[in-house]
Amino acid sequence: MVSSDPILRLEGVVKKFGAFTALHGVDLEIREGEFFTIVGPSGSGKSTMIRLLVGMDEVTDGAIWLRDQRIEAMPANLRPTCMVFQSLALFPHMSVGQNIEFPLKLRKVASSARKERALELLDLLRLPRDYYDKRISQCSGGEKQRVALARALAFDPEILFFDEPLSALDYRLRKTLEKELKNLHQRTGKTFVYITHSLEEAMVMSDRIAIMKAGHFEQIAVADEIYGRPVSRFVAEFMGEVNLFEVTSRDGTTLESPCLTVKSGTTNESLPAGGNGLLMVRPEFIRFCGEDESPDYRIKGRLLEEYALGSRIQYEVETETGQILTVEKLRQDRASSGDIGSEVMLGFDAARTHLIKDT
Ligand code: ATP
Repeated sequence: MVSSDPILRLEGVVKKFGAFTALHGVDLEIREGEFFTIVGPSGSGKSTMIRLLVGMDEVTDGAIWLRDQRIEAMPANLRPTCMVFQSLALFPHMSVGQNIEFPLKLRKVASSARKERALELLDLLRLPRDYYDKRISQCSGGEKQRVALARALAFDPEILFFDEPLSALDYRLRKTLEKELKNLHQRTGKTFVYITHSLEEAMVMSDRIAIMKAGHFEQIAVADEIYGRPVSRFVAEFMGEVNLFEVTSRDGTTLESPCLTVKSGTTNESLPAGGNGLLMVRPEFIRFCGEDESPDYRIKGRLLEEYALGSRIQYEVETETGQILTVEKLRQDRASSGDIGSEVMLGFDAARTHLIKDT
């Protein structure tokens, strides 16, 4: 259950490395029980952020609050949080059970109670109880990942931080563990803070996503909002395939763009008269149109390529102004789009668009 109360709050957090500023006065609130994911391209500052949150590095300026306690100067080992790394840092010479119990041993918990808790955690992570005596070196990649999670949970942290824990695993295992992590989050009710550069991973698991760009957050919202209503070109393009038309509005109601024919009466989110913006439409909302159809927006083009993407087919179409558009159809709805090189008519409706203003 996500509470509306923040468990973690950042105020004006700045991180400098010499003359280089990696984080530019970041404000953020993460809610109790939330699965919060920070996504961004390489070098945007994700690892820097998480290192400050767990206490592996010091802020240059600003404050970090854990509920009503200021923690930015608190050493990592005193913070009630725990980190799961990409490299799992398990002890290879110890058994699965000894690895999971390690945090409890540090806390001097009696051995029978430690074992009981380790077995409960094996159940929680859906590993067989007889793995308790198994060597780490005999575990598969996915099993090791589960052991690392069990060990992190043995700390009983208030917040679990994850730094790309699935990135070294193969596609199928990653997909399985994404769902297991989401499920584990629901079952434990803990706050999970996760960083990744995989948009798909973020979309599958998170309650909210923060998109990071060059040391600041560009947008923080639920996945649907970020996908459907991005605030900028950067977010729109980062969140998968997208078509963006540079538009203007002469009268403040109708949008115009050189390659678009607009059906009369079509209104959209408005720009002020004379204003500029980007009209966004995702590839799945563009269709190949026949003569009898009258979508709100029509575009003439030439079919350049067709790519089979498993369950979907992706088309590339070049408009008369030279813009390359992406259109996607489910395989069973494969368009009778004509041959490569042929003229096509595309269309989409205003209700399927989103306007990015002031670009
Ligand atoms: P990736 O996805 O590649 O791990 P990231 O988003 O986690 O990238 P960071 O590792 O946080 O990015 O790095 C953010 C910026 O800060 C980068 O430009 C990086 O070069 C710089 N940086 C990080 N650590 C240091 C350091 N110790 N000294 C100097 N610059 C650093």
